[in-house]
Amino acid sequence: MKGLPQRSALIGSCAGGLFLLLGACSQGPVEFCLDGEFDLGARYQGLRPAGGETYATRFCYIVEGDRVMFRSRGQSNPDMQGDWAVAFLPPDTVRIVNRGSPPDVEFSGKPVSNEALRYVRVDPRRLLAEIEARPEWITEHSQDELYVLQYPGNPFPTKVTVTDGRVRQARTLADIPLRGRVPVTWRWQWEQEDSPRLTLLVEDDPVFVATGSWQTLSPGEAARLWERSGGQEPVQVPGDRWPARISLEIRDLGQDAYLVTGVRTGFAHIVIDTDDGLVVGDAPTGWVELQQLPPADLVPGFGISGLSENFIDFLRERFPETRIRAVALTHVHDDHAGGARAFAAAGADVYAPKPVAGFLESALNRTTMPDDRLSAAAGEVTVIPVTGRLAIGDDVELLVLPAGPHVDSALGVLATKAGVFFQSDLHVPRSDDDTPREKRAATECWFAEWAVANLPPDTIVVNSHTPPRTPVSRLARYLESDACGAWRKSR
Ligand SMILES: [Zn+2]
Repeated sequence: MKGLPQRSALIGSCAGGLFLLLGACSQGPVEFCLDGEFDLGARYQGLRPAGGETYATRFCYIVEGDRVMFRSRGQSNPDMQGDWAVAFLPPDTVRIVNRGSPPDVEFSGKPVSNEALRYVRVDPRRLLAEIEARPEWITEHSQDELYVLQYPGNPFPTKVTVTDGRVRQARTLADIPLRGRVPVTWRWQWEQEDSPRLTLLVEDDPVFVATGSWQTLSPGEAARLWERSGGQEPVQVPGDRWPARISLEIRDLGQDAYLVTGVRTGFAHIVIDTDDGLVVGDAPTGWVELQQLPPADLVPGFGISGLSENFIDFLRERFPETRIRAVALTHVHDDHAGGARAFAAAGADVYAPKPVAGFLESALNRTTMPDDRLSAAAGEVTVIPVTGRLAIGDDVELLVLPAGPHVDSALGVLATKAGVFFQSDLHVPRSDDDTPREKRAATECWFAEWAVANLPPDTIVVNSHTPPRTPVSRLARYLESDACGAWRKSR
């Protein structure tokens, strides 16, 4: 085929061994790693929605036969450092690998090969090899250097540019909350054959700038790669829960306040049934995994507005006589604010902390937004800025928090009759302990100090990601813990 790279170009060095197509190195599995800086601000997960907030990040991809492991080290938020690993074991098993705290968690019973390949082809050598090995995915090859590929299970074509036997660029589209249907581009520079430079762009914003490298795993590490952590039997979970699922349930918090859980895995929202309609905390949306090529949404098919539209349908069924009066966006992070178009389409007022209200209003109204209920109604989102304390009717108050370790501006929703305060990503306890989780101590102690000073003492604090309900009296005990003592000294 004209334009396909010479076969010799597909054979890279592999620490002295040979690396052929999708096969393994003769000396053991090869790990491809990207080391660089990830811009959480450009990802809309930083302290503020502006680029330039970068954190050291490492993505590693290991392939052995049809098994794939992805390991990541970096920050998912300004206040969340973490390592995680996931193994794809075709045909139908995904394993969350918990080397530091066994057992692993396994999801079985759902085909995983296509997802595994979205990790494999981030390695530009493997992407090139795949193009040669799978001509049935090439839908166009109009210029010598450009391949248009339609990968199974992906909605958008991917355009790959290859010159002199090297991938220069791979470009596709993704539906990204607060951005719309926008280009995502992997741009490769090959000044050094064994350490290409990657710039991963979302629109024109560099999100991840990194250097790639290949190394053969030692025989010892290779032998341990697919073992179960701690030699323990993994926790088994049905495959339909991977990577996320919708399983809506409503829990009564008393006095016309509710928590709706399972909006997607790990997302819960307060709903307050006021005399003049429902007030909701946060507008859920999708989550696009940028470490995959093409990027994939955790809940495929729901796009940017679909999760909130589905949530609204659930509320209409549960509260048929009641309008949706307002949604309060707790902070600017795309996973909490990105679904607000659905609430605007339902006629709700949209509130957000004042410093980010202007950004959110223009982001939510971008012309790049794919079709949804709001576009069908030719509607627009107006974001009402909140400062200090704002009452919504008699039963709800929005309280603005000062800048903290998670985000520069946030608000919480106080259901005054029920005495329940909803916030997102600030207080996220895993238990009813009197001390905060060590890894999250900075944010937890910061929030505890604010809550003790600003909330009525009998208030119960709930959050969007974990089940515990925390009385403010427990947050006062946080402040007496060693963890919060150390945090106070370090300020
Ligand atoms: Zn957040």
